[in-house]
Amino acid sequence: MASEAIVTTSAASMTGRSGTYDVIVVGGGSAGVAAAVGAAQAGARTLLIESYGFLGGAATHSLVLAWCGFYAQRPAVTPAPLVGGVGAQALAHLHAMGVETAPYYSSTGNWNIRLDQEATKVALDRTASARGLDMALHSSLVAADVSGGRIVAIRVQDPRGVREVRASAFVDASGDAALAFLTGTSPCPLHAGRHAGQPASYPVRIGGLPPGAARDKAARARAFARIEPRIGRAELRTDGGIMTTLPGVADLWWLGIEVETNGLDGDDLAVAERDGRALAWHAIAALRREPGFETAYVAATGPNIGIRETRHAATREPLREIALIEGRMRDDAVALGCWPMEIHSGPGRVEYRPIGGAGAFGVPPGALQAADFDNLWLGGRTLGADAAAYASARVMGTAFATGHAAGVAAALGAVGVAAIRAELVRQGAIL
Ligand SMILES: Cc1cc2nc3c(=O)[nH]c(=O)nc-3n(C[C@H](O)[C@H](O)[C@H](O)COP(=O)(O)OP(=O)(O)OC[C@H]3O[C@@H](n4cnc5c(N)ncnc54)[C@H](O)[C@@H]3O)c2cc1C
Repeated sequence: MASEAIVTTSAASMTGRSGTYDVIVVGGGSAGVAAAVGAAQAGARTLLIESYGFLGGAATHSLVLAWCGFYAQRPAVTPAPLVGGVGAQALAHLHAMGVETAPYYSSTGNWNIRLDQEATKVALDRTASARGLDMALHSSLVAADVSGGRIVAIRVQDPRGVREVRASAFVDASGDAALAFLTGTSPCPLHAGRHAGQPASYPVRIGGLPPGAARDKAARARAFARIEPRIGRAELRTDGGIMTTLPGVADLWWLGIEVETNGLDGDDLAVAERDGRALAWHAIAALRREPGFETAYVAATGPNIGIRETRHAATREPLREIALIEGRMRDDAVALGCWPMEIHSGPGRVEYRPIGGAGAFGVPPGALQAADFDNLWLGGRTLGADAAAYASARVMGTAFATGHAAGVAAALGAVGVAAIRAELVRQGAIL
């Protein structure tokens, strides 16, 4: 946008909202919802900003239809929850809506909670209806003002134009570290080249399938063997990918197409999406030629493809692979993670490296605090981590936990980790 087109109106002109907050959270995915609700529950006047008109992040805009990382990895009659707090509130809202929230034990040896994206949107609306929390949906962060080592204000664009909002503390839960990036000081270690991070995928919801279709891997293999496995930037996973049932509906969730994109450049994303759509269409057309699958169709794709990794902000104590290998718990942990390090190195090439010790690890507060700014906290996909640790901590259950911690820390300010942990526990977090 040309700079003349940006009109910064007075913050006070925001309809029904004051322009000054204790905490502003950018991004309404798992981490951002948890950060905003956590901050509001800690007594902070909080604003949550989200580009889309609904919450949920990748779960709802990219059809990533399983919350992972809520339960300890090992098989059990009753799986042990490791994420409480706002994540548990979201689960309770889904359950109250009649959605099945009992986790299932997947073939990869992990517990997942399957999702329907429409129910998830409503459950998160309810989760985010906390007292003291204002929402600005259809609103994108476009600029940040920095002064004296602190972020003092941000500019947000919605269809009315651009306005300024101010806060004492900020949480960047944008997935892409958009706020850290706009301060102009945090490094972007990824994306020096196109393939620096984990590859993106093109999740598809398939309708019109017969009962038991998810188990008929032979039909899928026959169908996919008949088509070219690559269209431009999109490639079928060699194993056909994951196809799984969704709660309470006949549709299936299919995660079988990987796409090449740097995830940050609109033109690049558009090409990857176009090619992903074309390949999904071909693959489902081929599936329709299998007996019993004649009525299969592409029921939905998200407004976004699924981006696994883009930018990371620099933090004070990044999470390290060795801590996950050893399953290190810590006295100062502000969140727990447990998902194996799920490393995608190319189409169909996925490696799961287990978490050691008792199967969980503690996230230090320094992984959530920006290196350069005292009042900028990171949650979810933006946390500080090396590549392998990130491959675990990025999942949405853990994103609820790290977002919750970032929101509470932002709300409480410089009080020390003991007070942050105490407030998290008061709000039901598991530490
Ligand atoms: C293909 C794929 C499969 C995956 N499978 C699983 C799985 O099965 N289970 C699991 O738990 N995890 C899975 N993940 C990982 C997981 O989806 C993400 O790591 C997780 O969503 C991170 O949560 P988040 O809240 O940090 O970010 P996101 O969910 O990405 O949310 C960030 C939000 O910020 C908003 N935003 C961004 N920029 C701005 C801006 N400038 N202004 C305002 N808002 C902004 C976005 O619109 C978005 O809603 C998968 C990821 C992919 C891509």
